[in-house]
Amino acid sequence: MTERHIITARPVTDVPPVVEETLGDDERAALKTRIKQLLRARDAILLAHYYTSGDLQDLAIETSGCVSDSLEMARFGHAATAKTLIVAGVRFMGETAKILNPEKRVLMPDLHAECSLDLSCPADDFAEFCAQHPERTVVVYANTSAAVKARADWMVTSSIAVPVVRHLHAQGRKILWAPDRYLGDYVQKATGADMILWQGSCVVHERFKAEGIRDLKREHPEAAVLVHPESPAEVIALADVVGSTTQIINAVRDLPQPTFIVATDNGIFHKMREVAPGKLLLEAPSGGRGATCVSCAHCPWMAMNGLRSLCHALETGANEILVDEAIRTQAVRSISRMLEFAATTGVAVRGRSGD
Ligand code: SF4
Repeated sequence: MTERHIITARPVTDVPPVVEETLGDDERAALKTRIKQLLRARDAILLAHYYTSGDLQDLAIETSGCVSDSLEMARFGHAATAKTLIVAGVRFMGETAKILNPEKRVLMPDLHAECSLDLSCPADDFAEFCAQHPERTVVVYANTSAAVKARADWMVTSSIAVPVVRHLHAQGRKILWAPDRYLGDYVQKATGADMILWQGSCVVHERFKAEGIRDLKREHPEAAVLVHPESPAEVIALADVVGSTTQIINAVRDLPQPTFIVATDNGIFHKMREVAPGKLLLEAPSGGRGATCVSCAHCPWMAMNGLRSLCHALETGANEILVDEAIRTQAVRSISRMLEFAATTGVAVRGRSGD
């Protein structure tokens, strides 16, 4: 018999509007040329997330950087010889890069690029909650601050969350999970573990609507439905594939269907078009019939990354990510525990993290 608890998270009310960078062709070309010069001059490498703009993703590839999820961005940066890592993504990604690469300078285009999951889970509130449940093993998702990772026993990515929790459940451990309630619910159902769920959510994924997907599926019965597990359970229930960013990209590439309904940030379409040209990609409805939405299948914080802000960070050295060393050494333990588990069990971590 499992026990389930629901915990209230810090509400995230001040979600900014999505503002995409607009550039003329000449300015775009000039910025790209200048950034390439600066990357060489600063001994820097660009790590871009799948949800950033096509310009940034293209630039990362053209300059031998990487386009990936947060953990792989940090691991790629670790393997690179460059002394500076430019992380185009959101703040927890910059922090993860710094946690795993303390000897390197980590810069970001915009330090205001946050994440609603991270914001929903302030370190002090979380520490207090953990202290109320000392008997529980603390497992946190990658989308958390360095301080929250430091308080955790384990950090997990979405693909390894189920094997890790199943492993802990088999040992008779009870779990305190944070911050994403939908992913936590998905893991709890898959493992049967006794889990307390922090009630954070992603402002992009929680808005996908099952009704809208069913409507779209009626129009395109040939389509496969691809869903990121930060989505609500009723949306996950409609999925042909539930997976993280890289798993969903691989599904578009590998599955025979000509059409896909995609329930994740639409920034991912740039990579999907590259790996599967000619396939029809449809955005899963995010606002319901006739409704408006704030994030509309695109993360407002990811949209803060642009060529102008990237160039400025490289020119000036602005927006450096710093992590207190005591926090870093604690945080690296929760990440290392996951990596050791993956190495021991053969469960893949690479390319399967949530964000
Ligand atoms: S898409 Fe959602 S989970 Fe990803 S950074 Fe934005 S708010 Fe966070």
